[in-house]
Amino acid sequence: MWGRCLDAILGQMAREAYGSALPLYQCAIDWPAFFQDFPAPDVFEQTVYRWPRQRLRQLQERRFLQVMQAGWNNPFYKTRWTAAGVQPGDVKSLADIVRLPSYTSDDVKQSQLDAPPFGDFHGLNQHDLAHTPFKLQTSGGTTGQPRAMLSDPIAWEVQALAGARSLYIQGARPGDVMQIPATCSLANGPWLQYKACHDFLGVLPLTTGSGVVMSSRTQIETAMRFGTNLWNAFPEYLLRLAQAARDELGIDVRSLGTKFIRSYLGPDLQGLLRRELQETWGCPVYDIYGSNEIGLGAFECTHQRGLHIMEDCVFLEVVDVETGEPLLMGQKGNLVATVLFRTRPPIIRYNMRDLGRILDDQPCACGGHFARMDHFLGRSDAMVKLRGVNVYPMACLSAVKAEAATTGEWVCIVERVNAGGVPRDEMQVQVEVRGDIAHDPEALKLRLARRLKEDLGVVVTVVLVGAGGLAELANTGGREGKARRLIDRRPDYIDTSNN
Ligand SMILES: [Zn+2]
Repeated sequence: MWGRCLDAILGQMAREAYGSALPLYQCAIDWPAFFQDFPAPDVFEQTVYRWPRQRLRQLQERRFLQVMQAGWNNPFYKTRWTAAGVQPGDVKSLADIVRLPSYTSDDVKQSQLDAPPFGDFHGLNQHDLAHTPFKLQTSGGTTGQPRAMLSDPIAWEVQALAGARSLYIQGARPGDVMQIPATCSLANGPWLQYKACHDFLGVLPLTTGSGVVMSSRTQIETAMRFGTNLWNAFPEYLLRLAQAARDELGIDVRSLGTKFIRSYLGPDLQGLLRRELQETWGCPVYDIYGSNEIGLGAFECTHQRGLHIMEDCVFLEVVDVETGEPLLMGQKGNLVATVLFRTRPPIIRYNMRDLGRILDDQPCACGGHFARMDHFLGRSDAMVKLRGVNVYPMACLSAVKAEAATTGEWVCIVERVNAGGVPRDEMQVQVEVRGDIAHDPEALKLRLARRLKEDLGVVVTVVLVGAGGLAELANTGGREGKARRLIDRRPDYIDTSNN
């Protein structure tokens, strides 16, 4: 196993080196082996990042087989794979990966409900937990229990290193100062940003916390005092900071001389949000994509032509939102991730239900050969069971887009109504219409209802709302990036839209 993160070795090393019987983190990783497998950012940029794709594939294959082995030793995967008729040895390479069933956050949640707190998904026992220094992070679920995700030392370090590599390629260098206005909580992002700077780059991290911990005005004063020249923050907060600088301190944030900013641009396909941020701050803004399970999955290089997938760390597939069938390069669907550095637990064919598209795997002007994907295109919501039928709110897309009079935005609202003493689930589809195209509302509603019945398989009620009318409800204002296509108001529903 890469990096040799093994409990037995760990215990023995600690005893020999320090006379301690504790699971010291210092001894949890064989560092020379670690850096051989996962080179430091500057070495990586000159080597693995530029390897011919065939050589990269060989590396992926090797790591994938190690991960598969861990999968067969994990009850969550073993049960699912066996039920799908897969036998050990059936999946010999990444070409066979489609034989494995994918799973979603719902499956992980169920596993953790059945065997709290970590579920058979983690496949860990008390001995493991007492002998390995794990780091716990959770998903950001707003309702229901957030999913727990443990990282063993290798997984924790590789995630931070992946962030450092991307920062290096974007131009971060030792001596830079990066401000991280986010709180190191159970969300992994701020921790990994801090570690990337501190552990792997020689960049000074300023973990200033979110606006709750430090006001926007103080954030700017801190940046001026310590010479912040890099930021990692959400778009809306960057705009808020610029406003605070102007209104409360009378300064233009461009005077800070920022080198570049990393942010989460979401489905900013026309580049409008990026332009606004770049003009406001006077520096390049690079998009990144990641999750609780995969860490940093993709990042933009200085050419801003798609996000390079961190391919030696994660193998990304794109599958059809409804059928789960693999899609070709350029086609849009759900991103399915297999993490190539995690074994406890492994992440194998995890359907993140994030919409994406792989753009191409041609060499980039930055020198990298890692494939590029589009911006995160939005969230394909969980399937909803309606009167016994599996309904995909995303399946409204074609019907809504086909009508020129709509803005292309919609949201499905599911409610339990009382139909003569019998509870009945009803779905309403609210569709935004443009103000500048003449149409007959009743005829439009009729056409939409007919087409939606065909596409969804259930009868729905169509309600038309004015342009922008769903900005709040469907979160289509653009800033947060995750459009909401389903609002389930039934009493027993657990919201999974904010994973
Ligand atoms: Zn590039």
